[in-house]
Amino acid sequence: MSDYDLFVIGAGSGGVRASRIAASHGAKVGIAEEYRVGGTCVIRGCVPKKLLVYGAHFAEDLQDCVKFGWDIEGKSFDWAKLRDNVAAEVDRLEGLYRQTLGNNDVEIFECRARLAGGGKVELSDGRTITADKILIAVGAEPFIPEIEGCKDHAITSNDVFHLPELPKRIAIAGGGYIANEFAGIFNEFGSKVTIINRSDQILRGYDEQMRDRLLQISMTKGIDFRFNAKFKKVEKQGDGSLLLTMDGCDDMEVDQLLFATGRVPNTQDLGLDKARVETEDRGAIKVDEYNRTTAEDVYAVGDVTDRIQLTPVAIREGHAFADTQFGGMDRTIDYDNVPNAVFSHPPIAGVGLTESEARNKLGGQIKTFTSDFRAMKNVLAGRNERSLYKLVVDASNDRVVGIHMIGPEAPEILQAAAIAVKAGLTKSDFDETVALHPTMAEELVLMR
Ligand code: NDP
Repeated sequence: MSDYDLFVIGAGSGGVRASRIAASHGAKVGIAEEYRVGGTCVIRGCVPKKLLVYGAHFAEDLQDCVKFGWDIEGKSFDWAKLRDNVAAEVDRLEGLYRQTLGNNDVEIFECRARLAGGGKVELSDGRTITADKILIAVGAEPFIPEIEGCKDHAITSNDVFHLPELPKRIAIAGGGYIANEFAGIFNEFGSKVTIINRSDQILRGYDEQMRDRLLQISMTKGIDFRFNAKFKKVEKQGDGSLLLTMDGCDDMEVDQLLFATGRVPNTQDLGLDKARVETEDRGAIKVDEYNRTTAEDVYAVGDVTDRIQLTPVAIREGHAFADTQFGGMDRTIDYDNVPNAVFSHPPIAGVGLTESEARNKLGGQIKTFTSDFRAMKNVLAGRNERSLYKLVVDASNDRVVGIHMIGPEAPEILQAAAIAVKAGLTKSDFDETVALHPTMAEELVLMR
């Protein structure tokens, strides 16, 4: 007899969902978490980041409101107030996550856990647990390349929510999601932001026109970019500032350096060898479509498997795992047409194939439709910032195979539009839908 039917390592999005669903199917479940319940998304990722994005956006709203007749005297921004309010909201959500686990009789172990082989898990408090099935859901952690002085002086997205004060000058290494989101946030708060990327593009994998538009708008807003630039050394100076010695661009002096150069599976010191759980090159746990690892009765979901590093994907994987193993169902995940967004200023959102992916995949048999427009609110506000929407259509059957957008509320709009792509709707279906006027989203059905 094992102590548990299921023991989960990591109480993030995937682990919590798997625990709750397995328990609802009648399993006896334990879960270990070494930090805080909720994982990256709730504690130091999507949720606090989005709250900072909202906070930052007021900077523009407070400028734009003047043209709408509002006159706000003496406006000022208090970083500590926002930071602490966000932290309090994170505490509240963590409480709800704990409550959910408790309500489902999932026992929480607040310590680090590692596999010991043979259905055993060792806890850092000295206990050993046995379980019929073990689920690894430990997520990923920020990757910082080996550069002299970097590990000592650079911060990552883990630290950014706790800064004692706003940096006057911040350099952000990387040109992906996190770099562009925090560039927007700090720029709106008044920091001087420089993005430094090793390649000559931002947001690799996103539709080229959307990336170009974000780059152009970001530069107009005052964000600096250094491309094809490499870090040689990072040193702390007497006044507390950081000296960045660079290759490919001028050296730079900043107050903070944020590294956003990807996230790697959190598989170190997890006892994978003992349990014979194999990993891929980047340390990701190898799994099959049912989240089975190479070891019997050991499973993995979420970022630790490095399939698609997104919260809703981890949640689905955790849910499918629990339904399959404990609910008598046969469930796998469809990874096609997963919508995604970058909460930059303005945000980008996309689903399906980009134009170049569609060209490669469909042998050039595609049509594209774009709408390049200035949102009504921006026009009155005198904000010269244009939105861009694009439909990518398979010319052989008229199906919309990709939607890409940059502009205010793009992620909110795209979530609904993604249903149409997932359902395989055609450009004619879009055309036949009457516009909802006046909205930005109506552009989706007005492109000809
Ligand atoms: P990304 O993979 O988005 O971007 C990484 C960036 O770092 C790229 O610009 C890449 O350059 C650069 N880079 C990679 N390795 C190195 C290196 N060794 N030296 C220098 N530069 C390097 O990673 P992020 O850290 O921004 O985000 C991690 C993941 O978290 C994302 O992939 C995403 O899945 C998830 N996430 C999702 C969000 C959302 O859904 N809104 C928000 C935040 C994170 P190059 O241009 O050459 O590739």
